[in-house]
Amino acid sequence: MERIVQQTDYDALSCRVSAINKGYLPSPCYQLEKCKYLGYKEIHLEYLNGLRQVSRRIYGKVAKSLQSSYPVMNYGTYLRTVSIDTELNGILSKIGKEQRVQIIDLGSGSDLRMIPLLHNYPNLKFIDVDYAESTKVKSKVLWGTPSLRELLKLQEPQVDQLVRSDIYELLSCDLNDLNETCAKLDEVTDVNIPTIIITECVLCYMTQDTSQRLIDRLTNLYKIGYWISYDPIGGAHENDRFGTIMQANLRDSRSLEMPTLMIFNSKEKYADRFSPLETSIQNMWEIFSRIPQDEIKRLKSLQFLDELEELKIMQTHYVFCKVHWGDV
Ligand code: SAM
Repeated sequence: MERIVQQTDYDALSCRVSAINKGYLPSPCYQLEKCKYLGYKEIHLEYLNGLRQVSRRIYGKVAKSLQSSYPVMNYGTYLRTVSIDTELNGILSKIGKEQRVQIIDLGSGSDLRMIPLLHNYPNLKFIDVDYAESTKVKSKVLWGTPSLRELLKLQEPQVDQLVRSDIYELLSCDLNDLNETCAKLDEVTDVNIPTIIITECVLCYMTQDTSQRLIDRLTNLYKIGYWISYDPIGGAHENDRFGTIMQANLRDSRSLEMPTLMIFNSKEKYADRFSPLETSIQNMWEIFSRIPQDEIKRLKSLQFLDELEELKIMQTHYVFCKVHWGDV
């Protein structure tokens, strides 16, 4: 099961590259900054090139998924990416550039959002966490790509170690093993500084018990915190078949389980996992409906989208949850 879950990262990466290739990302409305000479697109293309050198097999899988670049998928990737990036930038701006702050991206896969964020916030430390298999590949790709290596200020890794630097850590652990996860986080994080935790399409692959233990432990450990979580929900209406169809498709096509899809099947139930903390949750269709008209016009010019109803059904079944505890 671990391997199957770990491979979902190839889908996430190919969706991001597809959204970049078609021009959805970066959004001029939400994601402006360049990192020195590299823009958002270039960072991803460099990573993809590095991946080709490190693993032809994984590169092949990502490239194959890229061939099916449907507008509804690109809209979905666009929405989740800009929502998370906008929220992160909002929190980091509020905290300011004077005090130290850390981001822990749990189940980060090949996500590269740490590069622009670290470039823009010199007071930030970024910690990526994923299974050993994933972090090993990411480590090799980052080290093997001079531009990314330089942007992350990576130090030459010891034999059999992952890359790291003063501003960036890559931790390999199984989030289901809470003691291992906390022990590793303890070595590289500070519980007394503001901490932003991200789970983007990760809690959905964990069981109810293990995900709840992870939430409870980390929200107690870090004194001042923000948790940003994005996941699918099954749908609570009696005629809603989205979740059962999704579960059946995942099971049949790749033996993949989403154990809590039908448990936290509504926004309210999903948010309740973080109770009694201050939480706000929206579905992605609600977020879509608030995008400025100019940006909608730009999106419409990229690809012809005639499946608006399909987009609506899909995006009402994905949630963006924001949690806050402690001061700041
Ligand atoms: N967060 C990234 C993104 O949105 O681009 C990757 C999402 S991918 C769908 C899910 C990721 O979560 C994979 O990289 C997988 O390995 C990781 N993951 C899921 N369960 C995990 C666990 N128990 N321990 C460590 N990583 C896990």
